[in-house]
Amino acid sequence: MNNIILVLKTIFPWLTVTDFWVIVFLYLIIDIALSIFVYNDSKSRGGHALSWAIWCFVLGGILPFLFYLIVRSPYTLDEINEEEAEKEVVELQKKYYEVQIAKEVQVCPVCGEEIKSDYMYCPYCFTQLKKKCPECGRLVDKDFKICPYCGHIFDEEKGVIE
Ligand SMILES: [Zn+2]
Ligand SMILES: [Zn+2]
Repeated sequence: MNNIILVLKTIFPWLTVTDFWVIVFLYLIIDIALSIFVYNDSKSRGGHALSWAIWCFVLGGILPFLFYLIVRSPYTLDEINEEEAEKEVVELQKKYYEVQIAKEVQVCPVCGEEIKSDYMYCPYCFTQLKKKCPECGRLVDKDFKICPYCGHIFDEEKGVIE
């Protein structure tokens, strides 16, 4: 250590021993501060935070710090999670639309041919699928005893296709 001080004294003759220790002290503070920053930053990005921090401290802070800034992961964990959440929402929306489309396409319970949800009769086997509510005019399942839209009670005894 004394040799270093002597060398420094020849280069910077105005430097006193106290100055030297002050410089060492300030440098250590910078080194520690940079290492702490690297630790927290690496942690938020899911890296090997402790290894990075130790490496940064041992190698003197500034240069490894700059190197770290270049090679660190461009996304924080929060950003990655956010992106994944967005992807999930898109996936759910996709599934929702698929279900909606699947609902539109139905098959006749008798002949199995493809029919639409608003068909009153199967166009392939003439099976009655729906009946029209005489009250509100909407199509309801042919076995319903009451119209779910307006409360009209179907007179089943008549056996009439309403
Ligand atoms: Zn049919
Ligand atoms: Zn009705």
